[in-house]
Amino acid sequence: MPDVEIPLSRPDLGPTEEALVLEVLRSGRLSMGPRILEFERDVALVAGRRHGVAVSSGTAGLHLALLALGIGPGDEIVTTPFSFIASSNCILYAGATPVFVDICPRSLNMDPRGLEGAITPRTKAILAVETFANPAHMEAYESIAARHEVPLVEDCCEALGTTVRGRACGSFGRAGVFAFYPNKQITTGEGGVIVTDDDRLADLCRSLRNHGRTASMGQSNEPGTGSWLAHDRVGYNYRMSEIHAAIGVGQMRRLRSIVERRREVATMYINRLSDNPSVILPTIEPECEPSWFVFVVRLTTGFGVEERDRIIRGMRNHEIGCSNYFPCIHLQPPYAALGYRPGSFPIAESVSQRTIALPFHASLTRRDVDLVCQTLELMISRESLSRS
Ligand SMILES: *Cc1c(COP(=O)(O)O)cnc(C)c1O
Repeated sequence: MPDVEIPLSRPDLGPTEEALVLEVLRSGRLSMGPRILEFERDVALVAGRRHGVAVSSGTAGLHLALLALGIGPGDEIVTTPFSFIASSNCILYAGATPVFVDICPRSLNMDPRGLEGAITPRTKAILAVETFANPAHMEAYESIAARHEVPLVEDCCEALGTTVRGRACGSFGRAGVFAFYPNKQITTGEGGVIVTDDDRLADLCRSLRNHGRTASMGQSNEPGTGSWLAHDRVGYNYRMSEIHAAIGVGQMRRLRSIVERRREVATMYINRLSDNPSVILPTIEPECEPSWFVFVVRLTTGFGVEERDRIIRGMRNHEIGCSNYFPCIHLQPPYAALGYRPGSFPIAESVSQRTIALPFHASLTRRDVDLVCQTLELMISRESLSRS
């Protein structure tokens, strides 16, 4: 994306992270050190889980969670078509087949009724995404998973710090996966953490991220020990470095204030746009404290995809970063072989043609938000005029 005056996202980094990174560089221990353990504990605590396993990305975490659950060729995983593509790609990595379910038009997460109907004897897991950090239906997914005796995997990559009815995102499935790419609530540059209460699953993920080495006492074994070159299984190198973990430790120390600030920015947008008849604001689940991954508005059904795309281009021409979160996964070329077509998931497709992700990060000021909203309103009225 070209450099714009008000970027779509921007990490919130400062002296805390700088000091922690410098300390790692000076320590000479750049992999598998104390910051990894600290970061894993911090993330597991926020998710209300016993284990955290740090990995090189959210996508790597999802891949390992599925492998650790024994998922492979011939298995079906029920999931959403309205998400970042990694939530389905991990299913393909495991050799399994994603089975998509249309979304609920309010929450933009899988419709629980559709989910129930998509389960077959081949279903080996439900992979639920808290799209845009909205935790709607997670309890319903949990009970459907329990009823059908399949594990629920929570792709909470967009939802660190969100709680609903007293429960944290990351606490719902057999395993949850967070991501720390720079556009998430907090970042490690690149990185992810798998969270779970299942000791066996955690150990398996620790082994799989580290070339299949034995994970002993909850920790990957160390170079120079007898078992360093003993491999129990075909593993991967999905480790996170100490440098990345140090950034994450600094970010976790400031998580509360970062989330608080994101809530303020979201409130500014909501107040500013709530009277606009062309714009549908994101819904907030009852008793939910959202940590706000992005701020995505939707144009009303009168607008089509060409108009939406022109509005996004117009915003970018005014130096305002905007995006079309998300194009439907089932319509992307790598999924063509699964046989889905335009019209397969009418709600997801209709929503996906009308969304606009507005600039959203902790350093946005009221002036920035005003400028974004003014420009958006100008672009929308231009489209409405050219139509009449
Ligand atoms: C960001 C994200 C991921 C993947 O995270 P990476 O760290 O970029 O690999 C997976 N699923 C969803 C829903 C995401 O938003």
